[in-house]
Amino acid sequence: MKKLFLIFLIIFPFVFASGTSDEDAQKYECDVCGYTYNPAKGDSKADIPPGTSFKNLPDNWKCPRCGESKSGFKKK
Ligand SMILES: [Zn+2]
Repeated sequence: MKKLFLIFLIIFPFVFASGTSDEDAQKYECDVCGYTYNPAKGDSKADIPPGTSFKNLPDNWKCPRCGESKSGFKKK
């Protein structure tokens, strides 16, 4: 019984963390020019700090290469 609890303790945070970080680390590609937004890098030109997920980008954020809006990006 103790063992089972230990295993649960080890596995649960891993499953929980990977579930949220997957979407946060999702890369998006511009449909127009092929620019890839990488959440791990952010976008220094638009003062977006590294670690900002695509979902958390401001709505007025635009592709730094061609100016396409967020709606023109697709999951990579
Ligand atoms: Zn673009």
